[in-house]
Amino acid sequence: MDDLPPFTPTPEPDVAAKHERVVSKFSTHTTRPLEYRRKQLQQLYWGIKDAEGLLNQALQLDLGKSAFESYISEVGWCLNDTLFMLENLEKWMKDESAEDQSLTNKLMKPMIRKDPLGAVLIIGTWNFPINLTIGPLIGAIAAGCTAVIKPSEVSTNCSRVMQHIIEQSLDPEAYQCVQGGIPETTAALKLKWDKIFYTGNANVAKIIAKAAAEHLTPVTLELGGRNPAIVTKNADTRLAARRLLWAKLFNAGQLCISHNYTMVDKEVLPAFLAHLGQALQDFQPQGAKDNADYSRMVSQKQWSRVKSMLDNTKGKIIYGGATDESALFIEPTVIQVDSMDDALLTDESFGPLIPILPVIDLDEAIRTANTIHATPLALYTFGSKAENAKVLSQTRSGGASMNDSLFHASLPTMAFGGVGDSGTGAYRGKSSFDCFTHRRSITTTPGWMESLLSVRYPPYTDKKLKQ
Ligand code: NAD
Repeated sequence: MDDLPPFTPTPEPDVAAKHERVVSKFSTHTTRPLEYRRKQLQQLYWGIKDAEGLLNQALQLDLGKSAFESYISEVGWCLNDTLFMLENLEKWMKDESAEDQSLTNKLMKPMIRKDPLGAVLIIGTWNFPINLTIGPLIGAIAAGCTAVIKPSEVSTNCSRVMQHIIEQSLDPEAYQCVQGGIPETTAALKLKWDKIFYTGNANVAKIIAKAAAEHLTPVTLELGGRNPAIVTKNADTRLAARRLLWAKLFNAGQLCISHNYTMVDKEVLPAFLAHLGQALQDFQPQGAKDNADYSRMVSQKQWSRVKSMLDNTKGKIIYGGATDESALFIEPTVIQVDSMDDALLTDESFGPLIPILPVIDLDEAIRTANTIHATPLALYTFGSKAENAKVLSQTRSGGASMNDSLFHASLPTMAFGGVGDSGTGAYRGKSSFDCFTHRRSITTTPGWMESLLSVRYPPYTDKKLKQ
């Protein structure tokens, strides 16, 4: 890490210069051919591979992330997604012919071309800094776009390594990195992009969407959580406890798709809590503090926010509760709350807090979930097949895992994104390619059809109307 330049915000004139550079590269059309895209993706792959050690170090420095979590959710994730893109790109780039054509329409060869959107801006965030910045970049390169990435100013070590990877591996005319926080992002947002891809919170997303609207620039917004989990009276409570706990320990709960609160049928509450306690013992036999598998809060600001949520709840702490400001540590903490007005349910904790709300039955759980947040990013339910189906048919969410947590978002074959105020647009795999692609409808009318088509020309005589 010491060999890399320190984290330095990009001066505003340089932000504009980087924008100008990638816009003008796009206008050369040289990023469009399959060979160019493949070459950049291959170089990105090897750039990530070569920087694997640096990335692990940076993730450890920024978030205290274990090597295991870093690999499965950041480094290995991006490598696999790049390979998946390389394997499928040629197929996805192919023109598509229109369906259900009449004979006359067929003669016009109607088809959809896959054109790149243009020069795009990708604004990343800090909780999975590599995955959430490089992930969309893979899609932009695959689609034939040029791009500027703006990694998070919170996870600065990861941002430094990403800049290094981009500068070492990719065509500098087409791919650039802007560093910084609000002033630098604001400077970038004044410029005209062909797409803005943003990951972060809903309040900033409104700033992004307003700035984009000035240029009529399309946006993809990947936003936040407040995700419910439901454990019904027919659930396997041990399985639910272990799977849900694992998801909350992951990155110490700093995960947009982790469950924000769990509603448990009163009938199985004692069993569920007992299994949760046992799972804590099994997963962290020596406790969470100084546990190399367990991340810390990313910053003082995030630590204080989560700590104050913990201090202000009226709920009862069942397990955990320890904190240490100097180590930015918050113990995984299970809290039983008895009112759906508790801020632990209504606000996104984005930390290792596990509020449990007892419910009378599944109907109450569904009603509560819909009242707290009608369109969360994710939803988890543990119950019988019929119960899980009922939950899906009476709720909305960006995605959902049945009898599990996080899983639906781990597959490169599935689109990832929110709905309503948890986000707009989606990406991952083919969806990433589509996210940065314009589906351009094309027809080609043969000259010999002129006599057939002449009916369309004025004067519009009565005879023509009858034809
Ligand atoms: P953040 O505050 O770091 O913001 C993210 C990005 O926005 C950063 O690059 C930052 O520089 C920029 N930014 C911040 N304020 C800005 C402003 N006023 N003007 C312009 N740009 C600005 O990140 P955060 O909000 O702390 O991230 C956590 C949130 O992100 C949570 O709500 C979480 O659920 C959500 N999230 C969503 C996903 C997803 O894929 N849907 C993934 C991760 C996090």
